[in-house]
Amino acid sequence: MSDSHDRYLGMDRPITRRDFMNGAAMAIGAAMLPDGRAFSATEAPEPQNQPEYDPARKTGLRGSHPGSFEIAHSLRDGTFWDSVGKSVDTGEAYDLVVVGGGISGLAAAHFFRERAGTSSRILILENHDDFGGHAKRNEFHLGGRLQLLNGGTFLIDSPTPYSQVADGLLKKLGIDPPKFDTKFTDRKLYRSLGLQSAVFFDKETFGEDRLVVGTPGRGWDDEESKSETRKTISWESFLAKTPLAPEVKRSIVRVQEAKVDHMPGLSSAEKKARLSKMSYRDFLLNVVKVDPGVIPFYQRQTEGEWGVGIDAEPALDCWALGLPGFQGMGLEPGAAPNMSYSAAGYANGGSYRFHFPDGNASIARLLVRELIPSAVPGHTAEDVVTAQADYSRLDREDAPIRLRLNSTVVRVQNARAPDSAKEVEITYARGKQLLKVRSKGCVLACWNMMIPYLCPDLPEAQKDALHYLVKIPLVYASVGIRNWTSFQKLGIQNISSPGSYWSGISLNAATNIGEYRGPTKPEEPILLHLSRTPNKPGLPAREQHKFGRYELLTTTFETFERKIRDLLARTLSAGGFDPARDIEAITVNRWPHGYGYEYNPLFDPDWPEDRRPNVIGRKQFGRITIANTDSAATAYTDTAIDQAYRAVNELMGN
Ligand SMILES: Cc1cc2nc3c(=O)[nH]c(=O)nc-3n(C[C@H](O)[C@H](O)[C@H](O)COP(=O)(O)OP(=O)(O)OC[C@H]3O[C@@H](n4cnc5c(N)ncnc54)[C@H](O)[C@@H]3O)c2cc1C
Repeated sequence: MSDSHDRYLGMDRPITRRDFMNGAAMAIGAAMLPDGRAFSATEAPEPQNQPEYDPARKTGLRGSHPGSFEIAHSLRDGTFWDSVGKSVDTGEAYDLVVVGGGISGLAAAHFFRERAGTSSRILILENHDDFGGHAKRNEFHLGGRLQLLNGGTFLIDSPTPYSQVADGLLKKLGIDPPKFDTKFTDRKLYRSLGLQSAVFFDKETFGEDRLVVGTPGRGWDDEESKSETRKTISWESFLAKTPLAPEVKRSIVRVQEAKVDHMPGLSSAEKKARLSKMSYRDFLLNVVKVDPGVIPFYQRQTEGEWGVGIDAEPALDCWALGLPGFQGMGLEPGAAPNMSYSAAGYANGGSYRFHFPDGNASIARLLVRELIPSAVPGHTAEDVVTAQADYSRLDREDAPIRLRLNSTVVRVQNARAPDSAKEVEITYARGKQLLKVRSKGCVLACWNMMIPYLCPDLPEAQKDALHYLVKIPLVYASVGIRNWTSFQKLGIQNISSPGSYWSGISLNAATNIGEYRGPTKPEEPILLHLSRTPNKPGLPAREQHKFGRYELLTTTFETFERKIRDLLARTLSAGGFDPARDIEAITVNRWPHGYGYEYNPLFDPDWPEDRRPNVIGRKQFGRITIANTDSAATAYTDTAIDQAYRAVNELMGN
C-alpha cells in the first residue's frame, strides 16, 4: 500500500485508537511472568482499583487484548513453570472459586449463592481487564454523547427456546426480551429514511467494485418490510445491477426461485440424511448443478453462524438457516437425527431476538450488579445500560463476593485424591505475582481446551476430549464516524460484502432504552459494526478454526484499521464519505477463541451422546466442576447459563 493511498485513507490521522497501548502497558507485568516477589493480593495497587479504571471505554485492540493471553500461551507451550518463582499463599479461603468471568462464570456464582445462601464467600477470577467474557461492552463518547456497541455476544437469541433455568435467570434480572424488543428497538427509523440493504461486489473477487443497493427479500430489518421489498425487488432486477456473468446470474435465479426436487424418490428423512453429509457448496455444484461462478456469492453466508463458509457446512444446516435451493424438495420442518445441534434448533424454531445496545454485556453487568450491588448502581434492566460501573468495588476484602480481573488461573488442584477431596487449591498469576487461594469447590467456567493445562491430573481421556473443543475465531470492529450522511445519500443501512476482508458493515441498530438514546439524525455521529470470520476454505472445519486463530493473533491493529478504512472508502465514497476526515474512533474486538465448537456432521463422528467430547470433557473431578458453553458444544448465552447451573448442582450434590 503506497504512502499516498494511506494518507487518503487517513492512516496518519489521530483517532482514539492508540490508547490500547495503555492497556498493554498496564497488563504487561502479566506478560512478563511472575518473579515471585511476595505481597498479598489486597495490598497490591491493582489496576481495577485505580480511579478512572473503565475498560469498556478503551478503544484499539480489545477482545483478547494484549496482556490477557500470554500467560495462558506460555502454560500451553510448557514454558510457564520454568520461569516463575514460588506462589504466595494469600490466606484467602472461599466456599466457591469460579474461573472465568463470562456469563457462565457469573451465572455459576449466582446459582451457587442461591443454593448456599447470601453469606457464602465466592471469588471469580478472570484473565481479561473486564468482566463479561465474550459479552463485552464497547463504550464511545462521540460528540459528547454515549454510544454503545457489542464487542462480542450480541443477541438474546438461540436456535432452541431458552430453558426454564436460563429464562428464569433473565426474568430475575428484569429482562423480558419480547417486551423489550417491542418497546425499545426502533425498527422504523432507518426505514423512514428509506435506507435498505446493499451488496458490495469487490474487484478482487468479482472483477470490479460495485455497490448494489436494495436486495431481494432483505430490504429492512423487520418482517413487514421484508415482504414489502420482496414485492418490489426481484432477483432478476437485483442481479441485473451486479457485475456477475450472465450464466452466474441465471444460476442464482434458479437457486433462489426454482421449485425443483433435487432428490426425487427419497423421503424427507432420507433427503435430510444425505444433505447432512454433503457441504452446501457440493449441494449447489453437484446436485443443483450451478455455474461455479455462483460460489463466491454464497461462500460466506454461513460464516456468521458457524465460522466457516459453505465448503465446510452441511447443506442441511444451510436449509435450516434459510439458505435457498431446497424450496422444491418437500423437506419437513424439524430436526433429523443426525443434524448438528444448532441446525436442529433452527429447524425447530429459535427463540428471542432482542439485544441491548451493548449486546449481552448488559446481561453480564446485571449479573455483576446482582452479585456485587455497589459495583453497578441502579435497579432495573433499563437503567443498567447507562450505569457507570465502579470497578474498585469488585474486589473488596469485606464483601462476600469478589471479582478479580487481570488474573489468569494457572493451576487448579484437589487438595487430596479427587474422591476424598474437600478442598481445592487455585493458583493464579496477576501482574508479577503468583498467588494461591483455597476453596471448598471450584467451577471452571473458562474455555474448556485450556482446562488440561490447569488440571494436568485429569484422566487422559478427559484431557483429550477437552482439547477437542476448538473454539471458533471471529473479529468484530466498532467504528465511530462523524456522521452517516453518506449512508443516507446512498440509501443504505447495511452492506454485505461477500468478497472483502470484512464481510459486512452495518449502522448501529436504533435502540432507545432507559436514558440511552441512539442517534436519529444522519448529521450525528454514529457507530458502525464490521465483522470478519477468518478461516481457510478447503480444510476440515476444526483446521480452519486453528488457521483463523493464528491469523487473528498475527494481524496488527494497523492492518485491521487499513482494511476498515479501505472498505468504508470503497463502499461509501460515492455518498461523500471521506475515510481520513470521517472516522473518529476504532475498536477491534479480536476473539481468537470465540464461539464454542458445534459438531459438524461433515467432519465429526456421529458419537452417541455419552461419547461426545463435551460430555466426557465436562465430567466432575473431585471438588472441580466444568461449565462454559463448550460443555454443551454450542455457542449461545442460554447454554452458558444452563451449563453453569449444571456445574453448580454437581458441586453441591443434585
Ligand atoms: C464475537 C461473538 C459473538 C457472539 N454472539 C452471540 C450472540 O449474539 N448470542 C449468543 O447467545 N451468543 C453469542 N456468542 C457466544 C458466546 O460465547 C456465549 O453467548 C457466551 O457469552 C459465552 O459465555 P461463557 O461464559 O460460556 O464463555 P466466555 O464468555 O468465553 O467466558 C469465559 C471467560 O473465562 C476466561 N478464562 C479463560 N481461561 C481463564 C483462566 N485460565 N483464568 C481466568 N479466566 C479465564 C475467558 O477469558 C473468558 O473471559 C458470541 C460469541 C462471540 C465470540
